[in-house]
Amino acid sequence: MKPVYSIVVPVFNEADNLSELHRRLAEVMNPLREAWEVVFVNDGSTDESSNFLNALSKKDNHVRVVEFVRNFGHQIAATAGMDSAEGEAVVIIDADLQDPPEVIPDLIARWKQGYEVVYAVRSEREGETWLKEFTAKLFYRLIYRITDVKIPLDTGDFRLLDQKVVAVLRNMRERHRFLRGMAAWVGFRQIGVPYRRHARFAGKTKYPLGKMIRLALNAVTSFSYFPLQMATYLGFICAGIAAIAIPVVIVLRLTGSGAFFGQATTLISVLFLGGVQLICVGILGEYIGRIYDEVKGRPLYIKREETTHPSSPSARKKR
Ligand code: UDP
Ligand code: MG
Repeated sequence: MKPVYSIVVPVFNEADNLSELHRRLAEVMNPLREAWEVVFVNDGSTDESSNFLNALSKKDNHVRVVEFVRNFGHQIAATAGMDSAEGEAVVIIDADLQDPPEVIPDLIARWKQGYEVVYAVRSEREGETWLKEFTAKLFYRLIYRITDVKIPLDTGDFRLLDQKVVAVLRNMRERHRFLRGMAAWVGFRQIGVPYRRHARFAGKTKYPLGKMIRLALNAVTSFSYFPLQMATYLGFICAGIAAIAIPVVIVLRLTGSGAFFGQATTLISVLFLGGVQLICVGILGEYIGRIYDEVKGRPLYIKREETTHPSSPSARKKR
C-alpha cells in the first residue's frame, strides 16, 4: 500500500537520538490510521547511526533508509529524502527532536484543509546559545529584506509539502540549495503553524558556524542579485567621492593650502579602492563559482544503498 505520509529525516551522526525519534514518530503517526513511512537519509554518518537504521528497517516496515556514500550536507540529504518519498504529503523533520514530532498532526490538519505547503514557525527556541539565536534571527530578517522571494521569518526546514509541490521541487536540481527559499519560490497555497522549538535531545549541533555561513551565502546567492548590485552602488559612491574631492583639491591648491598633500592621502585612497575592488571581485567569484558547479552537472548525491518500500517488487535494491 502506498503511504499517505512520508516523514523525511536527514541523519548525520545522530545515533543517540534515533531510537527516541522513532518511538515518538510511531506514537504520533500510528493513531492517524493512515499508511505512513519514514525515510531516514543517512548523510555519511561515522557513528552507529547506519547500523541502527539498518536494523530498524528490518524490524519496522514503516522505516526506509537511503544511505549516502559520504556526507553531502543537510539540504542535499533532505532533497534525497524527498526524491525517494512516496507519500501524498511529505514532512521534513530533523533527527535531533528539536522539531517535536507531536506537531506533525497540526501540519496534517492544515494540509487536509487544502494547504499545499505547511511550514512550522519557531515561536520560541529552547536550549540554544544567544549567539545562534541572534545570528538566526538576523539571518532570517536579512534574507527577507534582500531576496526577491518572501521566505517566511523564523521557519526552518520542518514543514509538510504536498506531493504536487514535491514533484516541482524534484525538478529543481540546483546544487547550492536553500530548501525553504525554494519551497517559498514555488508558490502554491502556503500557511504557517507556530511551535516551540525544543533543545536537542542528545548530541551536538552539526551546523557549526562555517556551515551556517555557507547556508546563508547559498540563500543570498540563490535568491538575490543584491550583492552584485551593491558592487554597482559602491562604484557610484566612490566615483561620487572623487567628483567632490577633485574640485575641492583644485581650490585648495589654488589658494595655497597644504591640506590633502602627502603620501598618507594617496595610500589611503589606494587601499580603499583596492579593498572595494577586491570585495566586488569576491562577490562576483561567489556567483561564478556557483555557475561553475552547476555547469559541471555532477549528481547532487550518491547513494550506496536504499531500502525500497515493502510493497514494491524488489523489496531491497542495490544501487
Ligand atoms: N544533518 C545532516 N547532514 C549534515 C548536517 C546535519 O543530515 O551535514 C542533519 C542532522 O543530523 C539533523 C539536521 O540535519 O537531523 C539538522 O542539523 P542540526 O540539528 O545539527 O542543526 P541545528 O538544529 O543545530 O541548526
Ligand atoms: Mg538541530
